[in-house]
Amino acid sequence: MKRRQVMTALGLGAAGAVLAGCSGGQESAPSTQSSEPQQTFQWKLVTSWPKNFPGLGMAPERFAEMVRTMSNGRLDIKIFAAGELVPALEVFDAVSAGTAEMGHAAAYYWKGKTPAAQFFTAVPFGLNAQEISSWINYGGGQELWDEVYKPFGVKAFPGGNTGVQMAGWFNKKIESLDDLKGLKMRIPGMGGEVLKRLGGVPVNVPGGEIFTNLQTGAIDATEWVGPYNDLAFGFYKVAEYYYYPGWHEPGSQMEFSINLEAWNALPKDLQQIVETATRAISLEMLDEYTARNNAALKQLVEEHGVKVLPLPDDVLSELRKVADEVTKEVAGGSELAQRVMASFEAFRDQSQAYHTISEHAYYKARNL
Ligand code: CA
Repeated sequence: MKRRQVMTALGLGAAGAVLAGCSGGQESAPSTQSSEPQQTFQWKLVTSWPKNFPGLGMAPERFAEMVRTMSNGRLDIKIFAAGELVPALEVFDAVSAGTAEMGHAAAYYWKGKTPAAQFFTAVPFGLNAQEISSWINYGGGQELWDEVYKPFGVKAFPGGNTGVQMAGWFNKKIESLDDLKGLKMRIPGMGGEVLKRLGGVPVNVPGGEIFTNLQTGAIDATEWVGPYNDLAFGFYKVAEYYYYPGWHEPGSQMEFSINLEAWNALPKDLQQIVETATRAISLEMLDEYTARNNAALKQLVEEHGVKVLPLPDDVLSELRKVADEVTKEVAGGSELAQRVMASFEAFRDQSQAYHTISEHAYYKARNL
């Protein structure tokens, strides 16, 4: 199958010529195998990120370049940063309506449209980067994702992962659950809901406004991503303590969304190129975050004197308990979201059993 698609991509063989002819809606020329002009496609891709934002914003740029090269220019994708064509949080609507053929964002932004969306980005105490990718590709996640987005006329593929995030920046120490009471923290999504139930005050501030909010004392704490992106925003200048781990976002997966009609109109070889490029970008983003987070953490500690601290075990265990309640409620009202949650959690329990004696045991041994 793979070989056939590659041959088609190269325009080799009669099967390839006929396929390209049918999908492109052009006359096929059975007597000649190679002289047929191939249809080209021009797509728009809208994102939720500022132009050239490190990591997240560069991924769609690299994706478009990769697709252009691999397709020899037959699929040309133009990237629009947040606000250039549509606002950051209207990416999904734009792709669903066909205003843009593609989007790059994070599925949990669309939880208001379909509660199941949450599970395809991050769930507090849920799957990490390695596990969520594995769930999507080998654990039934992709099929469920297709089912969740089908009513919106959208298909999605993973679009990179930040890895485990940090718990965030705080201006006071967190030593017990009492320290969360009244804490005004920028923390979106389900993590924010968990904080609220423990007496905190979650607020959602766009990335670009967090620094000022922290500086003026409008908020006491913030989470963002990890050392690489957090260093770029300069949070170390306005907050003293940097806590770990990112219990609320243990491996946030980005998404490439595609208008289903536009997707179905692509010849098979271009579909294969798009899918393959999304896979490449997914790997590449995690590699980039892994390398740059390491370097940025060193810089934060050694050059900027940031105090890096763990959240106490009893605080984490209570967060975990409340997170499970919140997760169940999120999925509660929808049969489909319940099925997604069941699949997600079964995969987590199963991978936890093995990862306890593999990844976790190895990290522990390496630190002895
Ligand atoms: Ca975050």
